[in-house]
Amino acid sequence: MVQLNFNNRFVAELPGDETGILQSRQTPDVCWSAVEPTPVARPVLLAYSSEVAGMLNLSDEEVHSEDFLAAFSGNRLLPGMTAYAARYGGHQFGNWAGQLGDGRAIALGEIINNNGERWELQLKGAGMTPYSRNADGRAVLRSSLREFLCSEAMHHLGIPTTRALSLIASGDRVMRDMFYDGNPGLEPGAIVCRVAPSFIRFGNFEILAARGEHELLLRLINFTIGRDFPQISLQSEDYLATWFHLVCERTARLVVEWLRVGFVHGVMNTDNMSIIGLTIDYGPYGWIDNFDPGWTPNTTDEDWRRYTLAQQPAMARWNLARLADALATVAPSRTLLDEGLVHFDATLQSSLSGMLAAKFGLLKWTDEDAGLVETVFDLMQRAEVDMTEFFRALANIRQHAPDLTVLRSAFYQETLYHNHRELFNTWLARYAARLALQKDTDEARRTRMNLVNPRFILRNYLAQQAIEAAMRDDLSLIDKLMEAARHPYDENIPAELTAKRPDWAINKPGCSMLSCSS
Ligand code: AMP
Ligand code: MG
Repeated sequence: MVQLNFNNRFVAELPGDETGILQSRQTPDVCWSAVEPTPVARPVLLAYSSEVAGMLNLSDEEVHSEDFLAAFSGNRLLPGMTAYAARYGGHQFGNWAGQLGDGRAIALGEIINNNGERWELQLKGAGMTPYSRNADGRAVLRSSLREFLCSEAMHHLGIPTTRALSLIASGDRVMRDMFYDGNPGLEPGAIVCRVAPSFIRFGNFEILAARGEHELLLRLINFTIGRDFPQISLQSEDYLATWFHLVCERTARLVVEWLRVGFVHGVMNTDNMSIIGLTIDYGPYGWIDNFDPGWTPNTTDEDWRRYTLAQQPAMARWNLARLADALATVAPSRTLLDEGLVHFDATLQSSLSGMLAAKFGLLKWTDEDAGLVETVFDLMQRAEVDMTEFFRALANIRQHAPDLTVLRSAFYQETLYHNHRELFNTWLARYAARLALQKDTDEARRTRMNLVNPRFILRNYLAQQAIEAAMRDDLSLIDKLMEAARHPYDENIPAELTAKRPDWAINKPGCSMLSCSS
């Protein structure tokens, strides 16, 4: 018997639409709609995260039970679960898109674990809700597997993220037009159980402001602060601005963390922005192989290039400004909210320089370092240098004998290496001179650098290989990737999981380009 200690504050304290009607519609004056998951044919547990299970005080035995499979495939609710879909809106690719909501996510409630921590459980792909609009409420195996693996990989990299408890094949087939090219096909369906302290997004606030539901907006703000921001007192003057300040700060820190590891979210719409600063909604995300600030994995964004690697801080700020617009409809002062955005800029700058200093092994960031870093980023882009491999190799450079061959493994192409050798040598000399200015040893620097520059990232081609194997019922690569993801900074990771992108993956769908069709 799976036992979880539910305490569902979101539904208990905020108004909901309790009709249970699934028909797609506008749902004014509520924050959620009651909706039961739609059962699936033949659920099979494909993978789970033992860390997340542990966090929920679930034993291995419980995870492998019939109860678990039934509950986390959406086939049966456990005692204490209250299933609902949240109402939210959002700005998508820069435009207000109106009401969106959980179209295929169904929350199961909040549990309190043995440590007193609150965790919300949510199924993704569990069927239709009033927010499904023209879609089916389902998710395919390939995108569910990507979400499952990446959530856990991000967590172990030390990056705030929603977690993933389980990946369950539904046994049903789902129709998708993977590339929006008029060739839909049936694909295996799956359901991920996501876990986070809160799934509230910027869009939950935006929809209420847009619809003029100001009283409810204020209620949601107070609820969010009361539940998810215990450090802020609702009694204090300007608590709303203090809170927004903190949201700005967390969001700034989050995007800097993405830049640190070369993660591109791919769809930073305001409905995909977590109010508590987590990475949320893994869709057409990707990881940088050869360094390219202008890269996005999302084919839907190919022309506009709104959500590329380097654009992420600016887009986060733009999203925060939209949140500020929404909050301003009930806040005592717009000026105080604008100060939050200024705080975002300051946090971004300090986090960015701190992060870059750490990546390059510098003990302190000085203004001149910006030039050093920009020069090498420019070179890395032109010479198509692998970002992850470069920083691990850079840690092995010896200050008194800088040697470019140490970095050779980070280059994809011999000719590009050859053509840029002189420029890299010049840069290395400059880097060595910079290192000489600090009291340090090669070994101490290498140790520090290897704590912030991962050896293992969930490269796009690796996730794709895991998907293709899983389609053949081979789950071994999922296990291997999960194991590597647990220790991403360790040197001793199987070589096949740290290899640079192979040539076959350069233009392969799923490896270099992804659509939102998931
Ligand atoms: P996303 O791009 O995944 O963040 O989704 C944007 C909006 O579309 C959200 O409201 C989703 O719930 C909804 N949505 C995406 N895919 C589906 C689907 N298969 N069924 C129902 N709603 C969906
Ligand atoms: Mg979304």
